[in-house]
Amino acid sequence: MSLLQVTGLNKAFGGVKAVDGVDFTLGKGELLALIGPNGAGKSTTFNLVGGQLAPDSGSVRLAGQEIAGLSPRAIWRRDVGRTFQIAATFASLSVVENVQMALLSADRKVFAFWRRAAGHRRGDALALLERVGMGNQADRPCSALAYGDVKRVELAMALAHGPQLLLMDEPTAGMAPAERLALMALTRALAKERQMGVLFTEHSMDVVFGQADRVLVLVRGRLLAEGTPEAIQRDARVQQAYLGN
Ligand code: ADP
Ligand code: MG
Repeated sequence: MSLLQVTGLNKAFGGVKAVDGVDFTLGKGELLALIGPNGAGKSTTFNLVGGQLAPDSGSVRLAGQEIAGLSPRAIWRRDVGRTFQIAATFASLSVVENVQMALLSADRKVFAFWRRAAGHRRGDALALLERVGMGNQADRPCSALAYGDVKRVELAMALAHGPQLLLMDEPTAGMAPAERLALMALTRALAKERQMGVLFTEHSMDVVFGQADRVLVLVRGRLLAEGTPEAIQRDARVQQAYLGN
């Protein structure tokens, strides 16, 4: 059974079919890239899987259970993690406190007592930061970090929750090319060691073709092609419709 199975997914906004009959699967430990031109329906697909939007029709199954139309909170509780295009950390807290907050939230403690995060699972938070290459910056305020480092903290926060599926919509937006590759190579290693499925969008083809196990190409809401990075690079329809050569 696939970790994620999406079948006949549809979502329209007024007359625009943002997602139009999309089918795909994602396995444990697999890195699946969703690519396509602007307006192709990538973010809408993420929002349908993450619960920020409800589909007009179609099915989203996580480990065999239907999750389409559930609230983001309910989907999060089923161990679906998410990072956002704009990194979402608490700038006034330190790096390690941000991860402690994420652990606190994952442990379903009362969020209102967030100031107690200072004492919560600091060792576990440090271990996560170590794993994403941020162990030496644990006590700096998040506001003092370089943007690429904030994205690493955000990844550690997503991992705090122990997701079986991680949704990353444009995780490397605003990052330099070398940093992009490093972040996604790290994500790939984490996916393999935790057997976590990762669905991500990415504009840099170097990153997509170098890191993804499989690639989905979405054009105007429809899946144009699906395959290994090698097959997608060779696909004449993809070159014509998307890569522009
Ligand atoms: P991508 O992420 O691939 O750039 P989106 O999923 O954001 O594409 O958008 C797909 C299509 O749906 C676009 O035509 C976009 O204008 C439209 N769309 C997305 N979200 C909304 C919304 N909330 N209201 C109206 N139209 C939307
Ligand atoms: Mg988008």
